[in-house]
Amino acid sequence: MPDICIVGAGPVGATLALSLADEGLDVVALDARAQGATLRGDRSLALSHGARLIFERLGVWRALEATPGAVTPIERIDVSQAGGFGSALLEASDVGLPALGYVVSYLALQEALDAALERAGVDVRYGKPVDRIEATPSLATAIASGGERIAARLAVVADGTGAACDGIERVRHDYGQVAVIGKVETAKPHAGLAYERFTPDGPIALLPEGAHYGFVWTLSPAHAQEALALDDDAFVARLAARFGRRRTDLTRTWGRKSFPLVMEFARPAVATRIVAIGNASQTLHPIAGQGFNLGLRDAWDLKRTIVASARDDLGTPAMLASYAMRRRPDRWGGIALTHGLVHLFGTDLPLVRWPRGVGLALLDAIPPLKKSFTRAMLFGA
Ligand SMILES: Cc1cc2nc3c(=O)[nH]c(=O)nc-3n(C[C@H](O)[C@H](O)[C@H](O)COP(=O)(O)OP(=O)(O)OC[C@H]3O[C@@H](n4cnc5c(N)ncnc54)[C@H](O)[C@@H]3O)c2cc1C
Repeated sequence: MPDICIVGAGPVGATLALSLADEGLDVVALDARAQGATLRGDRSLALSHGARLIFERLGVWRALEATPGAVTPIERIDVSQAGGFGSALLEASDVGLPALGYVVSYLALQEALDAALERAGVDVRYGKPVDRIEATPSLATAIASGGERIAARLAVVADGTGAACDGIERVRHDYGQVAVIGKVETAKPHAGLAYERFTPDGPIALLPEGAHYGFVWTLSPAHAQEALALDDDAFVARLAARFGRRRTDLTRTWGRKSFPLVMEFARPAVATRIVAIGNASQTLHPIAGQGFNLGLRDAWDLKRTIVASARDDLGTPAMLASYAMRRRPDRWGGIALTHGLVHLFGTDLPLVRWPRGVGLALLDAIPPLKKSFTRAMLFGA
């Protein structure tokens, strides 16, 4: 019987599997996708400096950086609001790091992780969607479509939704907002400069991605529908109008689509013989780019808890409680930080615009405050 069965070898599940490769444990990972395939090839992930350190330790970062266009460093972030005072420029040099974060291609990261898992000889079974997990006090059994049963001391759910585990309650909060995402080209190179701009319609993030920008614009459902219906030129004109003099050279857009913004989290993220990590544990609003980084730290802390446990203790209530305790401050801090930022920055009531301006002005004017804020975004709350 395997010690650990990981359901979902996406970026988070694969990171856990790889981190356990040399620990002398019997680990099996099951993924619904076919070998070499990825379901989210066009998505980019916002990685913190802390996430880079994890991938460096796993020997994945070098391969990723060597892939053309896979990693774009964010060197500065310009934070401002349309129609209000106050702005802040966060710079990597403020915290003595080469970059504030990185925009990484999901496809390239998944390929680098898959290749590393293969090199390390980890047992990854592709084309194995798991329908459900049954648990007893002594073991968890993943039941794949077609009926195959894989029993282990501990089942780790990293399927991106938590759909595979029944015993875990999920709390869902719908923000009633929609994210319109896509790509936009600029006449001048981005030079590693990202933007977070608060506009009357909702916040817009521009993230440097290869030679262009990726954008995430949070809108009400009605405004999102309207923005999606515009032709490309009219959409670029609307985006440019929201940026005013801050960025006047937006030229071309493509790849627009939308998704509803919700926060969902497992409460608690552990059940009998089961633990949920990554997006299966919490799905966050993209406003602070914290979701993937938090998921990655789930994987890293779970690895540390597993390695510190005796084999017979894997999946026991004591081991799961120890993991949950270790994750508590970071997990709830990340959820609260993101939720708080949505309320402070996700609306444009005049009453909010003024304190927000004060906040941004203070952030820019007080170096220790700016440094703590930047470090929280880089390494976690
Ligand atoms: C629409 C959308 C857009 C996003 N955009 C961004 C962005 O621009 N930047 C950013 O930083 N983050 C973004 N995110 C968040 C980011 O995608 C997640 O944080 C990240 O993908 C989480 O990784 P994960 O490994 O937990 O889950 P996933 O990436 O979802 O991976 C889950 C894996 O599990 C497998 N799987 C699923 N079901 C089963 C099953 N039943 N049995 C076996 N295997 C299964 C899948 O094939 C997949 O490989 C976005 C999220 C969404 C929903």
